[in-house]
Amino acid sequence: MANSCIVMKFGGTSVGDAKAIERVAAIVCGRLPQRPVIVVSAMARVTDQLLRMARAAGSGDRKTALTLARELRERHYNTAGELLGTALFTQFHSDLGTEFEELEERLRGIAAVGELTPRTTDHVASFGEVLSSKLVTAALSAHGIGASLVDSRDCIVTDETFTRAAPLFEETNLKLTELVRPLIESGRVSVMGGFIASTRTGITTTIGRGGSDFSAAIVGAGLGAEKIEIWTDVDGMMTTDPSLCPDAHRIKVISFDEAAELAYFGAKVLHPATVLPAIQKNIPVYILNSMNPSCEGTRIAAQGPHCKNFFKAIAAKKRITIVDVAAPRMLLAHGFLRSIFEAFDRHRIPVDVVSTSEVSVSLTVDSNEQIPALAADLARLADVKYEGRKAIVCLVGENLREVPGIAAHVFGELSDVKIRMISQGASEINLTFVIDEDQVPAVVKRLHAAFFKDPDPEVFA
Ligand code: ADP
Ligand code: ASP
Ligand code: MG
Repeated sequence: MANSCIVMKFGGTSVGDAKAIERVAAIVCGRLPQRPVIVVSAMARVTDQLLRMARAAGSGDRKTALTLARELRERHYNTAGELLGTALFTQFHSDLGTEFEELEERLRGIAAVGELTPRTTDHVASFGEVLSSKLVTAALSAHGIGASLVDSRDCIVTDETFTRAAPLFEETNLKLTELVRPLIESGRVSVMGGFIASTRTGITTTIGRGGSDFSAAIVGAGLGAEKIEIWTDVDGMMTTDPSLCPDAHRIKVISFDEAAELAYFGAKVLHPATVLPAIQKNIPVYILNSMNPSCEGTRIAAQGPHCKNFFKAIAAKKRITIVDVAAPRMLLAHGFLRSIFEAFDRHRIPVDVVSTSEVSVSLTVDSNEQIPALAADLARLADVKYEGRKAIVCLVGENLREVPGIAAHVFGELSDVKIRMISQGASEINLTFVIDEDQVPAVVKRLHAAFFKDPDPEVFA
């Protein structure tokens, strides 16, 4: 297709040091005929470090904030020094220097006021992707690739929900067409920072932790890309987190729905919002390993193949709080559930798993600081208790509703484990339950051993 392009997103580890960035350059070189647009994360651990310095500045600790900023400066200069020849590095040095001066200036400002707002948090966090996109553009140019830096804040438009802003697709698509499309047409490789965006009035926002995958999907959908490649540090989407189960198998093909469910319930390899733009434009997404580029990875597409195993994968999401709401006096009262959900809505707290009885409701939420305020609000309606350090375990597979005895099989494996909540049937593809957080490694290992002894070679590698 004359207009076609692909989007390649490289995560933090994939741009974590000079060697990793060299590998990126080699991978991009191999894709030039497919007209790639590159989206990069901040170098590994940089966003965490930026948030740490923002918090230090916010608490008035200017010294710590500036020390952390200086470490970051060193790391970026050293990486640039390794990647670029002397002439290129000299040129690039002042460009990076300007960014670091702006960062330090901002940190001094925050420390002087002694207050950190979500808006300034986003400004500080944005430096990670601003710096890495500049570094990768310079490295690709040094490899003779015609690379052009595109500031994502000029293309990706969001609302003003700082730290987890929502993209405004129509405006974004227009800007991508205006700014990136001509570069593709002229044979240039655009390089953009993931995660960062801006409001209609040009104020920097970020789209949520791990959001560079989502950025890649927004860019891919906006440009009508042929495919979106998510390059990371593992061979693909696996039957469970390989850092928990080293014997996890690679999933060769998985459906959008299954991948979205796994991402939502903790498979960090993919940001949960990524699949949405891809589904809307039916663009296949590939998960690939930048440290093992010849591996064919995982393809996520509209339809997955039929699988002989009950499940495709197991995910777990930690730091969950269970909120128990009990209201004997509301017995059968009309509107009880509505008033509970309205309270969650007022506090903007999303709910994951719900189970109800006649007089009580249990709900799970991501642990966060809003919970005490929510509990106080709910206490007007009912008795409220909440308990943290829980985890959701989610098993995903097609047509679970059709398979007899599947719940017995799962819970039979866990007969000695305290299960706090169970949910099955809301979607045809997931079985979810809640346990104590410290049980996750053992539970996941046991389930993985039970259900993936004999992996279907059509689906798993
Ligand atoms: P990146 O920096 O490339 O975005 P992430 O750290 O966000 O990478 O995601 C990759 C990590 O996701 C892997 O190193 C792995 O530990 C974790 N992970 C969790 N669940 C899965 C899974 N089901 N398949 C593959 N990786 C997973
Ligand atoms: N750098 C951002 C983060 O660490 C976004 C990303 O890597 O996807 O959350
Ligand atoms: Mg990630």
